[in-house]
Amino acid sequence: MRVYLPCTVVDSSALADTMARTYTRISGMQSMSRPRHKVKELEALLAEAERRGWRVDKKAAYYRLRCPCGKHQTWVHLTPSNPRYEQEKRQKLQGTGCW
Ligand SMILES: [Zn+2]
Repeated sequence: MRVYLPCTVVDSSALADTMARTYTRISGMQSMSRPRHKVKELEALLAEAERRGWRVDKKAAYYRLRCPCGKHQTWVHLTPSNPRYEQEKRQKLQGTGCW
């Protein structure tokens, strides 16, 4: 009997739809795996750190950065008052030798 076929077709298209939605949700989550830094320059710094293999974890008042070798770590504050913060943080990161 082929009576089940229409049901199968409906089910698989519903499944495909569900999978498409799930995929959209997962890919959305991947881009949101870390909350974005509100300061544009510092968000760029965090993104660059991730590209270089550093691990970035969001904490209460800062982001923790850990280098690929595991020996270096530093912090990027959420609301630094120093206008040169980003430049100085960058220099410090470059000084680790893991940047
Ligand atoms: Zn290191």
